[in-house]
Amino acid sequence: MERRYCMADDIVIMGAGPAGLAAGYELAKNNCKPMLFESQDQVGGISKTIKYRDFYFDLGGHRFFTKFNEVNNLWHEVLGADFIKVPRLSRIYYKNRYFNYPLTPLNALTGMGIFDTVKITSSYLYSKIFPYSREDTFEQWVSNRFGRKLYSMFFKTYTEKVWGIPCSQIQAEWAAQRIKGLSLKTAVLNAISRKNNNIKTLINEFDYPTHGPGMMYNRMKDKIEDMGGKVYINSRVDKINTEGSKIKSLEYIDKDGRRNIVEGRYFISSIPLTELIEKLSPTPDTAILNAASNLKYRSLITVDIIVGKQHLFPDNWIYIHSPDVKLGRIQNFKNWSSKMVPDENRTSLGLEYFCNENDELWNLTDDKLFELAADEIDKIRICNKKDIEDYIVIRVPKAYPVYMNGYKKNIGIIESFIRQFKNLQPVGRYGLFKYNNMDHSVLTGLYAAKNILEGTIKYDTWSVNTDKEYHEEKAN
Ligand SMILES: Cc1cc2nc3c(=O)[nH]c(=O)nc-3n(C[C@H](O)[C@H](O)[C@H](O)COP(=O)(O)OP(=O)(O)OC[C@H]3O[C@@H](n4cnc5c(N)ncnc54)[C@H](O)[C@@H]3O)c2cc1C
Repeated sequence: MERRYCMADDIVIMGAGPAGLAAGYELAKNNCKPMLFESQDQVGGISKTIKYRDFYFDLGGHRFFTKFNEVNNLWHEVLGADFIKVPRLSRIYYKNRYFNYPLTPLNALTGMGIFDTVKITSSYLYSKIFPYSREDTFEQWVSNRFGRKLYSMFFKTYTEKVWGIPCSQIQAEWAAQRIKGLSLKTAVLNAISRKNNNIKTLINEFDYPTHGPGMMYNRMKDKIEDMGGKVYINSRVDKINTEGSKIKSLEYIDKDGRRNIVEGRYFISSIPLTELIEKLSPTPDTAILNAASNLKYRSLITVDIIVGKQHLFPDNWIYIHSPDVKLGRIQNFKNWSSKMVPDENRTSLGLEYFCNENDELWNLTDDKLFELAADEIDKIRICNKKDIEDYIVIRVPKAYPVYMNGYKKNIGIIESFIRQFKNLQPVGRYGLFKYNNMDHSVLTGLYAAKNILEGTIKYDTWSVNTDKEYHEEKAN
């Protein structure tokens, strides 16, 4: 049966990941009573933490770092002493050897042996004399800075594992955001002068909640509710009713399968942009639907294992560049926080596989995925498979928005369409289809809340994280 009611505060937030929760928290702090609707049984979105047998598993590994003071203040305000500083160590595994990450040239050159060193150097010089004239793709952008040989060793394999498409089809913008400031020349100069402060991807420590990122977002949910807001879990937004240039109401399916209608004055959406478009009623024009259906996501499977060993390796995570295994990255959770494991004699690892929803890997049974992961980690000699005591498999659909050639045009079409709705603000990584870290997602949530509180549209959520350059380090 359908129930209909009006909300006291009239602010409706779709999705309770970092972006939706940040908006809800800011609004609740300012005496509003927002209502959040979350489809899953737990808040935190991709940044949630899964608890299994008193082990805490992060979906990937979520470093907390930001150059935005308001985001940093918010995180510290919410978590206080449970937010700890963690030293960073991450390396690249390639051909049975470990290389520093971020890549340092001396380590790369000395680790490769004389033959490859000569090849790397000559291909670098070649790319300086004969660079690609255009830098539209990831391949062109990286090759021009590192040479083709180094590109093929340290960028191509891993990047193609993550995205599942050739680097020649990935926009240069992604490389520009992630590794700007790092090139073979600047890296060599920095190694010599030891001045590496400006390299954006070098960050030696980060913040982390003692029990994983989900702790931050669970705490945010509790605080929102303490301040009078409501967070409805197991409540999937199914339909969004519009009238002219306004969103009138949304319909959600609750845990008992009932359809409910909620009317509101202000709507914030952190659900994937593609789903938002599909759920609008009346249905948008075909051009808008086509633009949305052309946006693609990449998914993630983590095979989380519990190993009966106290120590396996010192890194927080290791990138697996070897092309002979499908495994992309390994997280060692006790190196993020000792509280992630209940027993210091055991180690928990997250083995990450990148895939597409419903592809061959995605559709493997959990048993088969575990078999694959156990064989691969044994093969690369990181852990003997006989020492694995238990495992769980977590599938994460829509983990990465894919910056494929042509995606910007589609986003442009959707953005102009969405902007027509004066009381709707899209926020977050999937809500805006941007390769956002948590801080950008949180910032968009704060922007949306401020617009509502101040009765303006001063803060444009679409404008966050459009810098070509992405700063991992706080600007001094
Ligand atoms: C492997 C991996 C590693 C990462 N590492 C880092 C890192 O080190 N540092 C960092 O800062 N960031 C990292 N990120 C990025 C970070 O996870 C995201 O930026 C952040 O979670 C995005 O928050 P969000 O609220 O925008 O989206 P989400 O986290 O996806 O939250 C959206 C919420 O909406 C809900 N939802 C979706 N559809 C509906 C619906 N129809 N009805 C109701 N609810 C719905 C979802 O269930 C979800 O809870 C990483 C991401 C991945 C995939």
